[in-house]
Amino acid sequence: LAATPFTTGAPAANAPYRNAALPVDARVNDLLLHMTLDEKIGQMTQAERGAVRDLDDMAVFGIGSVLSGGGSGPADNTPQGWAAMVDAFQAAALKSRLGIPMLYGTDAVHGHNNVPGATLFPHNIGLGAAGDPDLARRIGRATAEEMTGTGVRWNFSPCLCVARDVRWGRTYESFGETPALPVALSTIIDGYQGAGGLAQPGAVLATAKHYLGDGGTTFGSSATDTYLLDQGDTRLSEAELRRVHLPPFRAAVARNVGSVMVSFSGWNGTKLHAHRYLLTDVLKKELGFTGFVVSDWAGVDQIPGGYPAAVRAAINAGIDMVMVPNDYVRFVDTLSAEVRAGRVPMSRIDDAVTRILRQKFRLGLFERPMTDASFQRTFGSAAHRALAREAVQKSLVLLRNDGVLPLRPGARVFVAGQSADDVGRQSGGWTLTWQGQNGPVPGGTSLLAGLREVGEAGGGTVTYARAAQPGQARDADVGLVVVGETPYAEGKGDRASLALNDEDTANIRTVCADGPCVVVTVSGRPLILPGTPMNALVAAWLPGSEGAGVADVLYGRVPFTGRLPVSWPRRDDQLPLNADTRPYDPLFPAGFGLTTRP
Ligand code: BGC
Repeated sequence: LAATPFTTGAPAANAPYRNAALPVDARVNDLLLHMTLDEKIGQMTQAERGAVRDLDDMAVFGIGSVLSGGGSGPADNTPQGWAAMVDAFQAAALKSRLGIPMLYGTDAVHGHNNVPGATLFPHNIGLGAAGDPDLARRIGRATAEEMTGTGVRWNFSPCLCVARDVRWGRTYESFGETPALPVALSTIIDGYQGAGGLAQPGAVLATAKHYLGDGGTTFGSSATDTYLLDQGDTRLSEAELRRVHLPPFRAAVARNVGSVMVSFSGWNGTKLHAHRYLLTDVLKKELGFTGFVVSDWAGVDQIPGGYPAAVRAAINAGIDMVMVPNDYVRFVDTLSAEVRAGRVPMSRIDDAVTRILRQKFRLGLFERPMTDASFQRTFGSAAHRALAREAVQKSLVLLRNDGVLPLRPGARVFVAGQSADDVGRQSGGWTLTWQGQNGPVPGGTSLLAGLREVGEAGGGTVTYARAAQPGQARDADVGLVVVGETPYAEGKGDRASLALNDEDTANIRTVCADGPCVVVTVSGRPLILPGTPMNALVAAWLPGSEGAGVADVLYGRVPFTGRLPVSWPRRDDQLPLNADTRPYDPLFPAGFGLTTRP
């Protein structure tokens, strides 16, 4: 403990760490000299906003970070309400002896999705289909701007998971089944973190997650398991782990990503949260990562052996900040006892705090800790919605087409299926709440509304029924059946079967019996389709708030250019199925996509 001076007074106002003209590492080193062990442990602590019992705890414990978990926002759930909430936490943190700012984080994984009225971009699987690194970068920037106006300077995104089994409930958070897609689209980190550095207005800290192998877990033996795949075990040789799952993190580190979140999953039986080799030897030493490693939500608690042993193992493995997220007093007391007993070395604590403070200085939080409200005008702006619409257009994958697409201007179109008329469904999980939900989303345009807008502008008609009745589509030139999934997130979306539900299957049978039909899937992953002949098939993924982007492409205003980011199975019993599976017999292979380009 010799490295920790026992100090009670505040350092001088001109202490080097307060001097913005000095290099970041000089400021970090100076600040570290002033800090007590308790203040250091406080920096390593991340609490959920709802768990902070009293704002005074921010200074009493020197809490380094606060988060909004999925759907957790202030009572005044507006950008202004968020800014007031974050600034209140910040003002409370700045009252501490050393005046160290806290860092506020949230999951803005397809736009700033916890705040009503935000622009919602396609989930990552759609961006994988678009395969456009510059588009991903621009989406990162737009998201960062909307976050900045709410005071949130840290995004738990992107998920760089390589989804190897589409039964996994986080498949839609993945850019694709091969490492090449997340490597290429890691440009989204540049968008989040800004071209001119993190201190520039409108930049936020990015998080590469979940390290390592989250998308490679093995299907459980019991179909009644809550978590069939999510948070499971990735059983691979080290060579395979490195070949499939490591490259996106190498790319993220090369882009100077500020933080990395640890995966709930294990590798060959050892939880990543306790994996010193992968966290310290590979990520920090071999890849040269200089940012900080944050745990996942209570991920430390999953390490076996009881809480003190778990905390010890996690910190010694290389975790720098712990998303506690609820009982932060217990965490602080436990880690403090472990350090005092010599079971966690002071050098490890100093390394963790150095890494956290480095990012806070880089973000300019010491100079400008409060919300930059000027960015509130970007929130849900027309420019951001136009960008989201462009992303939707580029994300659509045309899987089959006998010439029925594009729809001709003036066509009479009959639309069926709830997924056509439900912005909540087309936005998926991580939308307003953790799991997402059916129903309206403020500011969003449904596929149906978009079809009406574009179709009627061309002199056509669009009629709609949630459940098609026999004969209903006969008066139309084309029947459009929109099928899909209801929203889910994480393990709650793990499925043993990807078969369509009965209502969607019935709609396909009914509409396709009446004449030419187009089937559109609105889902976080491929679905197992019935054998009913269909004239065209389109995968729309989870497009987000701008449903009109789907109509733009169906009506041929914009050509289809997307390609499958994952293999599309014929049957459930083929799963897991990806380009490395032998024999490889998908309905459509990864990379497949037709075009209507003239
Ligand atoms: C998820 C993370 C997320 C965290 C905070 C966890 O359940 O696995 O991806 O960043 O919650 O919301």
